[in-house]
Amino acid sequence: MKVHEYQAKALFAQFGVEVPGGSVAATPGEARAIAEELGGKVVVKAQIHAGGRGKGRLVSEGETVAMFERLINDPESNEGQVRGERVGGVRLASTAEEAEQEAANILGKHLVSIQTGPEGKFVKHVLVEEQSAVDREFYLAIIVDGAQAAPLIMASTEGGQEIEVVAAHDPEAIVRLPVNPASGYEPYIGRTLAARLGLVGEQASALNKLVGGLYRAAVESDASLAEINPLVVTEEGRVLALDAKFTVDDNALFRHQDLADLRDKDEEDRLEVLADDLGVANFIKLDGNIGCIVNGAGLAMATMDSIKFAGGEPANFLDIGTVNDPARVVNAIRVISEDPSVKAILVNIFGGMARVDIIAQGVINAEKELGLDVPVVMRLVGTNLAEGEQLLSEAGLDVIRAESLGEAAEKAVAAAGAA
Ligand code: GDP
Ligand code: MN
Repeated sequence: MKVHEYQAKALFAQFGVEVPGGSVAATPGEARAIAEELGGKVVVKAQIHAGGRGKGRLVSEGETVAMFERLINDPESNEGQVRGERVGGVRLASTAEEAEQEAANILGKHLVSIQTGPEGKFVKHVLVEEQSAVDREFYLAIIVDGAQAAPLIMASTEGGQEIEVVAAHDPEAIVRLPVNPASGYEPYIGRTLAARLGLVGEQASALNKLVGGLYRAAVESDASLAEINPLVVTEEGRVLALDAKFTVDDNALFRHQDLADLRDKDEEDRLEVLADDLGVANFIKLDGNIGCIVNGAGLAMATMDSIKFAGGEPANFLDIGTVNDPARVVNAIRVISEDPSVKAILVNIFGGMARVDIIAQGVINAEKELGLDVPVVMRLVGTNLAEGEQLLSEAGLDVIRAESLGEAAEKAVAAAGAA
């Protein structure tokens, strides 16, 4: 689960990470009041769950797709807008009136950046912050390195750019410092980091304190990502987090109610939210047109591979688990049917603990309750297959049957292509 920049900064501050003063506003009037408190010279920043805002563009809902294509195809057109022409999602204002005006320009529009996808993101809030006079910009992040089973601190002097871009053109510029999870963060790590980034004296100490705080914030919150890009040294010599990204591991949310409360469902995929609300766990939206209902994560992966092998594209990953209630199947079909790109549904069940008759009953109920408007291909094997077959034939359900997984995938691809 991602959180907004303003939420991440509030959390960072609790752990002693220095951030600019400021607060969040939902209206231009609120933005003006905050700017007045801060003395007028502020930055007004769109709050969405995506980066690249400074180089993004604000448009109305109907214009997002064309704008996204422009940003992708013509990167020159989205360079460095924050300090120039006022078009992006991060804007400098010199007075409280200007801050109000900029907030009015940003709020209620869709912000499109190379990270938002073609739909862009609707802006409900802006963060109004004191301006910082930037001397140097760095990249700093703490991620969980799965291969090493340890937190990894990553930093670079190429601040303000996406780390993927730096990794592609100058991989040597990225400093990587693994942290032993048993001993945790130790000051020598911060000193090493400061030396590698070229910071000395008070700034090295400030960096050390900041990284230590960020480490604790990440570990204590079960974060999979805590990123500051850019981390800056200001002209006055302060070291502070100008931007903040924070992702909490969903599997650990149950033990962080305070973080779970920060969830903004408007920022998440509509179908994944629906799946979650309906108790359809393990649903991930993908870009293809064949909806998949499968029991078992491994079988779900194999099913997606088979669809690709047959020349198609899966519309989702879905591990329906060990189903003991037809309503779960109906809900899974409900989620998949809400996806306008779905042109066929492939049900692939290997009945072990799961029972084929329950799945069959679920599909029959879905037809009754929802009406199935796309072809359904079913490949069923295992426990209670005969009972399942009987239910399907009694119901006279018009489904396409397949024996093997390969055959099922081919039939689903053909059905989706014909639709
Ligand atoms: P992002 O584009 O979504 O990553 O948003 P950021 O918060 O990183 O802002 C984009 C860029 O705006 C940063 O990389 C900075 O260069 C610039 N910026 C943000 N706040 C300030 C500020 O207070 N002063 C100055 N001079 N630049 C800023
Ligand atoms: Mn940034």
